[in-house]
Amino acid sequence: MDSNIKVLKFGGSSLADAEQFRKVKNIVMADERRIYVIPSAPGKRFSGDTKVTDMLYECYNVAESGGDIDEIFSKVCDRYNSIIEGLGIDLDLSLEYQHIKWAILHHAGRDYAASRGEYLNGIILAKFLDYDFIDPSTYIKFFDNGTFDSEITNTLLSTELKKHKNGVIPGFYGSMPNGTIRTFSRGGSDITGSIVARAALADIYENWTDVSGFLSADPRIVDNPKGISFITYRELRELSYMGAGVLHEDAIFPVRFAGIPINIRNTNAPEDTGTMIVPCTDVFDSETVITGIAGKKGFSVITIEKAMMNSEKGFGRKVLEAIEKEGLSFEHLPSGIDTMCVVLHTEEINTCRDRLKNRICASVEPDSISIEDGLALIAVVGRSMVKAKGTAVRVFKAVADSEINIRMIDQGSSELNIIIGVDEKDFEKATNAIYHEFVK
Ligand code: ADP
Ligand code: ASP
Ligand code: MG
Repeated sequence: MDSNIKVLKFGGSSLADAEQFRKVKNIVMADERRIYVIPSAPGKRFSGDTKVTDMLYECYNVAESGGDIDEIFSKVCDRYNSIIEGLGIDLDLSLEYQHIKWAILHHAGRDYAASRGEYLNGIILAKFLDYDFIDPSTYIKFFDNGTFDSEITNTLLSTELKKHKNGVIPGFYGSMPNGTIRTFSRGGSDITGSIVARAALADIYENWTDVSGFLSADPRIVDNPKGISFITYRELRELSYMGAGVLHEDAIFPVRFAGIPINIRNTNAPEDTGTMIVPCTDVFDSETVITGIAGKKGFSVITIEKAMMNSEKGFGRKVLEAIEKEGLSFEHLPSGIDTMCVVLHTEEINTCRDRLKNRICASVEPDSISIEDGLALIAVVGRSMVKAKGTAVRVFKAVADSEINIRMIDQGSSELNIIIGVDEKDFEKATNAIYHEFVK
């Protein structure tokens, strides 16, 4: 049954200045079902501009090192004041500014500082739309260990939302059991939007950004990539996890719970239909085969060799246990008969490189072990791959024809994705080669 509720999240560039706020209001007012709105903090107005969130992190860093935050904090206030002025609304945030500055100087914390970007933008947007302001710190909850508490959040938030005809709920943050503010990771307003959509049992979660939907490749790497009209949650999760930056990689979990589709839309081109992210679809693209490509640099491979490895019981477990004991998580495990490879983020390995190596050596006594950096991973994702023969061959051939060496291959058993590893220097070229092999 339709709930007649639409939840909308607007990203930082969609709310970067007064002109963008006006576009947002037009979008919200164009449909009376658009009743819950999640704003990000003001983003970049032009290339080279600074996001308010980054300015707030800077305030925190300066304050914690005992410096003077006057100059940088007044730049934050200027951003909001120019929006208020540009909109011509009757709103004075000076008391809020004083309180926030005082709290930052009195160690309210890094997350508190960052969260004020969304908080202040939420107050302005609520006033401009004449919607209720709902502070997520009371309803979006984290456990003591910092992970998100989805169940209590859903109970608290769904009860609260029912009390409001409409509402603006700032993105990105909630609170810990002791009341301190906690944020999601960067880009986390996408997650707040999804949490609100689930709690409201919305018909749809509209995620408004600065591109007309999910593109089949990163537009900064491939020229003018084809747009995606339909994509499943699982395909999206693979692509966003592998770096397709449009939507936060964890944003699908709350809506997936309730089977609510996400529609990615462009605030600057509201007439475009964008991308529909759905639980599943019968729409298969037999022509293109792949739905999208995404990738990331910054991986390392640990290669462990030992004769007769595969008859040694518990070998893999011991290696993974050594990794776990260092507090690391692994990405892939492409392995042979006498070799086992583990792919991890270089940034994480750097915290314990020698210790990790020694731990693995002590635990499994390998014939050799090496850690090589400089790996980029590229994921080729598509639900239609199950139905098309020879997709892997086409991927490998396209890369080989560009004279690029493939350093690793991992095909998911779900036949939804193929992941290859190449040298970081070949990342862009390999992405283009694969893209053009499938998208003519
Ligand atoms: P917002 O501030 O609205 O949350 P983001 O900057 O987080 O927006 O995400 C939108 C950006 O993601 C686009 O401007 C684009 O540069 C980038 N991007 C990366 N990969 C893709 C992709 N596959 N499709 C569309 N955009 C992508
Ligand atoms: N403002 C936060 C960030 O810049 C959260 C978001 O935009 O989603 O990461
Ligand atoms: Mg974003």
